Amino acid sequence: MAQTAEWLGIPPEHPFGLAALPYGSYTAAHHADEYRVGVAIGDCVLDLTTATDRVMPGRAHLFRSGSLDEFLAAGDGAWSGVRAEITRWLSDETCRPVIEDLLVPAENVSLRLPFTVADYVDFYASEHHASNIGRIFRPDSEPLTPNWKHLPIGYHGRAGTVVVSGTDVRRPCGQMRPPGADRPTYGPCVRLDFEAELGFVVGAPSHLGEPVPAGRFAEHVFGVCLVNDWSARDIQAWEYVPLGPFLGKSFATTIAPWILPLAALEHARVRPPSRDAELIGYLTESSDWGLDIDFEVRLNGHVITRPPYSAMYWSPAQMLAHMTVNGASLRTGDLYASGTVSGPDRTGQGSLIELGWGGAEPVPLPDGSSRGWLQDGDEITITATAAGEGGARIGLGSATGCILPATPE
Ligand code: CA
Repeated sequence: MAQTAEWLGIPPEHPFGLAALPYGSYTAAHHADEYRVGVAIGDCVLDLTTATDRVMPGRAHLFRSGSLDEFLAAGDGAWSGVRAEITRWLSDETCRPVIEDLLVPAENVSLRLPFTVADYVDFYASEHHASNIGRIFRPDSEPLTPNWKHLPIGYHGRAGTVVVSGTDVRRPCGQMRPPGADRPTYGPCVRLDFEAELGFVVGAPSHLGEPVPAGRFAEHVFGVCLVNDWSARDIQAWEYVPLGPFLGKSFATTIAPWILPLAALEHARVRPPSRDAELIGYLTESSDWGLDIDFEVRLNGHVITRPPYSAMYWSPAQMLAHMTVNGASLRTGDLYASGTVSGPDRTGQGSLIELGWGGAEPVPLPDGSSRGWLQDGDEITITATAAGEGGARIGLGSATGCILPATPE
């Protein structure tokens, strides 16, 4: 495996080493209106917009806007070509004069939403999460609905409220029906929650009317990012029957600023857990896209759960095949999220509703307080690492957000 050039001084175990190279969009402190595409390397950001202008002019137009949009649309040939060049710059000692002045300390940049989110879809691909939610929301029914093991369940969310990590999240107001009440009330959500998820970013579009087979996943999906699907459980519980999530989800969705390309996940690929239902043809994929990615969620700095992505039932290739099997087309910038990542036990549940079992068993915090639901001022930070070569771990950055009080009436 290639190492970063010695002059960069990046230890091999750094989560943003040469094996990662995630892409983002940033502005530097002294140029707040000048957007650039950056690549994370160690504790720095490489100014890819300027670097391509300087030494890769044939690709420079892909990065000139400062967002990833044109690069995403350029397809897998451009994705692999650019990654190979960046790898060479950062590993070949002779490239030092070319890029040294384009490395900006990460602490000196503001990371922006890295691409224009086109459509946003959220799946429900963890059997453990779906079973837990079923038990909490519908205690008198089977935890999983009859369709759950035959198709990856999802819904279309609100692309316009996807925000980048660090954006504060205002507690939503809405309708809810308090336990035991026979009429709904209106007011600030009192059961505010997070959901730790993995997002998949579509690069290459598809044609309307033409399904995208699971085997073409890597031609269309550019990479992954961390997602927090903030959820207002009381609003959700009252509104979701019969058409699914709506205002309980659409007020904000946080993504990490770094998009890690699929090329970085080669060593993280694992076989998903075994299926116990016979699948219809388009869901029987030709390649395995289970992923060995370990999540951590911190509430006010304290780790409250470590969800394992490898336990997810449906793979992102199956999600893509299902999302397009009716002929719905993909657009550059489409984002689809996995659904809450939950493992088989309490140490790996990816939402507060599971960790605190619907508010009945609040999660203790080191300061002596506990949380059934998120309070104003609480900060949730999701981080994750993927398996790399030879036991190394590759970073996905972090998705963080702080809860602001509801807007006064
Ligand atoms: Ca979700």
